[in-house]
Amino acid sequence: MGMKIYNSLSRQLEDFVPLNPEQVSIYSCGPTVYDYIHMGNARTALVTDIIRRYLEYRGHTVKLVQNLTDIDDKIINRAAELGISAKQLAMQNGEAFFEDSQRLGIYPADVHPKATEHIPEMISLIQTLIEKDVAYVIDGSVYYRVNRFAEYGKLSNRKPEDLLAGARVEIDERKEDPRDFDMWKAAKPGEPSWQSPWGKGRPGWHIECSAMAMKHLGTTLDIHVGGEDLRFPHHENEIAQSEMATGCTFARYWVHIAFLNIDGRRMGKSEQNFILLRDALDNYPTEVIRHFLISAHYRHPLDYNRESLMKSDGAFRRLSNCLDALKKYDGQFEEGDTTISPLQQAVQEMKSQFIAAMDTDFNTAQALGAIFTLVSKVNRYLSADDENAPPVLAQAYHALTETCQVLGVYDTQARDGDGDNVEHRDHLINLLLEIRQDARSRKDWDTSDKIRDRLKQLNIEIQDTREGATWKIVS
Ligand SMILES: [Zn+2]
Repeated sequence: MGMKIYNSLSRQLEDFVPLNPEQVSIYSCGPTVYDYIHMGNARTALVTDIIRRYLEYRGHTVKLVQNLTDIDDKIINRAAELGISAKQLAMQNGEAFFEDSQRLGIYPADVHPKATEHIPEMISLIQTLIEKDVAYVIDGSVYYRVNRFAEYGKLSNRKPEDLLAGARVEIDERKEDPRDFDMWKAAKPGEPSWQSPWGKGRPGWHIECSAMAMKHLGTTLDIHVGGEDLRFPHHENEIAQSEMATGCTFARYWVHIAFLNIDGRRMGKSEQNFILLRDALDNYPTEVIRHFLISAHYRHPLDYNRESLMKSDGAFRRLSNCLDALKKYDGQFEEGDTTISPLQQAVQEMKSQFIAAMDTDFNTAQALGAIFTLVSKVNRYLSADDENAPPVLAQAYHALTETCQVLGVYDTQARDGDGDNVEHRDHLINLLLEIRQDARSRKDWDTSDKIRDRLKQLNIEIQDTREGATWKIVS
């Protein structure tokens, strides 16, 4: 049996067959960096991380692109409230996002494109749509002409009348059709803007993702991931723009991650009920938060409450006690031993159940179930103190650490020894040094010191030399 993914577009479980067997391409809608991320955002980021880790475990090479939306109404408004520039706010929160992700043991994406660094790609995509008569210009803004895309609504499964009802919330008399949406917004006084063929302005949110996804992954990508709240209008509009521009399928599998609830209501900034990821990480170990966030299948809602976190805390202790006890048997395999003991059989069962669960639309809840069944069996075995135990315990240790590594629920050490990731880490550190250099040239010593101190906590030491700052990893 191969892998199956529930495709939100067809609303069916489908066999997963990558377009290019050499490399699975994944695009994940990243945060709009106007604030710290909350636990609901963390759920989406973590599920993306596990999808990637599991595909790699199954032998695929993966290219993951996760964008940062660093220009948006929310950023402009928040920056104005704080009395800082939109650029500075986005930079600070972008940095905080990477810091929080790293604390949650999330591997960096292969590319983290920023919207403001892809303005030419967005302009050229909009121009293509204008040439194809799929877009029109009014007073320096550019709108997408929804009635030109016959398949509009296919992702969210909305009929034209539902779409109209939704669109009326935000009436703009200048639009030809209330469903039309803006891809380029004419500059308003005091807002950040870029030069374009239609005058100064800034991109709309939807065109950002279309342009960045296609630039880094080509016209057709395998898996597009995002929170359930992005299905409409964001993802519907991404499809409309991309498919009308290229004539190709934009994303082959759409994966939407369900909401995290708190007190029975969706966790969200706009609802004013949310727990920041960094606050949760101050209170619980990384593995506990990860266990909690994947304790339900990603398409099911999950409720954030103390009781659930205490359960995850207990589970993590059971797991780490078991693995700590097993560690001493590591490597004690016996060559040529062909007898299959009951525990050996349990190890094999665990592995096949783990794979069956994860192969079926990344069912992490069932995968954890398989792991913990083996943990119970191992504990019973350990207390029986069987003198023939070591070889089979070594196998149990190996199978448990390997599967736990895929889920990141035990030993969340960042991977090293992997060239690409080391290179990526170096890029990220250099980026932080650059940001720090900018801060220093503004005499913003607080930001500069914060970057130095936080890196130090991560065992990365910065040295300021006459040629600029250098860094090294210390232990
Ligand atoms: Zn997006």
